[in-house]
Amino acid sequence: MKLQEYRAKELFRRNGCNVQEGKVAKTPDEVFDIAHEYNGKVVVKAQVLVGGRGKAGGVKLAKTPQEAREIAQKILGMDIKGLKVKKVLVTKAVDIRHEAYFGVILDRKSKKVVIMASSEGGVDIEQVARNTPEKIFKVYADPFLGLRPYAARYLIEKIYDNPDVIKQGIDMLQKLYNTFISVNASLAEINPMVLTPQGQLICVDAKIVLDDNGLMKHPELESWRDPDESTPEELEAKSAGLSFVKLTGNIGCVVNGAGLAMATMDLVKHYGDEPSNFLDVGGSSNPKKVISALRIITRDPKVKVILFNIFGGITRCDDIANGLVEAIEEFKPTIPIIARLTGTNEDKGREILKKAKIHVFSSMDDVVKKAVELAKN
Ligand code: GDP
Ligand code: MN
Repeated sequence: MKLQEYRAKELFRRNGCNVQEGKVAKTPDEVFDIAHEYNGKVVVKAQVLVGGRGKAGGVKLAKTPQEAREIAQKILGMDIKGLKVKKVLVTKAVDIRHEAYFGVILDRKSKKVVIMASSEGGVDIEQVARNTPEKIFKVYADPFLGLRPYAARYLIEKIYDNPDVIKQGIDMLQKLYNTFISVNASLAEINPMVLTPQGQLICVDAKIVLDDNGLMKHPELESWRDPDESTPEELEAKSAGLSFVKLTGNIGCVVNGAGLAMATMDLVKHYGDEPSNFLDVGGSSNPKKVISALRIITRDPKVKVILFNIFGGITRCDDIANGLVEAIEEFKPTIPIIARLTGTNEDKGREILKKAKIHVFSSMDDVVKKAVELAKN
């Protein structure tokens, strides 16, 4: 789950980071009022869940409340990389002497948390990583001891040379790391970390991605989820208790088990087509779940065939088959449905599906080949 900049800044603030002051607004008049209250230069910033807002014209400096209102009129409603701007953050503008990058991410390769810093802040850090990777410095957190002070110092001394700034930098880096850990994030970034002409470090932009699997420990953050992060199909699937990811192909897949779903998608690709979705209905034979799945899948007109791939383990094939039949009878899909059913009580299950006139296979290879063939015609 990605957090908007103002939410991420709120979390950094709670952990003691020095964050640029700001308030959220939804209308140009609210922006005017906030700018008036701040009584000086402000920055109006589009709140959308993508990077590079500055380059896209979504971050603008205003010298007067009047100018802030005019800028807000332009930014609110603007389209940035396909996302409509519904809110802006109005911040007290800071003066910039230097922009650095601070980041904490979970590195799957090393199976550790990696802490990074670079003097090349402000700009697209992915570009720095590609072109001049030697300008990004890294340390790994100890799984038990966390980010140790000497490791933080090692990083910060690569960026700053003034002892007082180094002290602030170490402190901020540790607080950034603590924020990351405290909310089970998979990424926490400050880009830019600004050094002001007065020698102060201030967090000017913030990004946090929460690990969805850690969210149950932070139920209060669930309400921060931005509906724009997911497609409408993904939201509907989530509320129906399905694991669903929208893809771009023609073959709708309904599978029990994430591993089997992945294997099914691989096989669809192997035989030359593309899946329209990843969908794991779980171990359940609940017809309601299957109906939700069918409804979500068939909404995409590109879907030409629906492929059920079911492996009966603890859930028995006859149970699942009954659920499918009930769902299909109620839903009445207009495109062909084929199924592969194997495992516990497969004979009974196959009987049930055959009666419902569903072409049923026992081999995964055969059913996927058939689905690809049907999708072509
Ligand atoms: P991003 O483009 O989505 O990463 O948005 P940022 O919040 O990082 O803003 C982009 C750039 O705008 C920053 O790198 C700064 O150069 C500039 N900027 C943002 N806030 C301020 C501010 O308060 N004062 C000044 N002078 N520049 C700012
Ligand atoms: Mn930024």
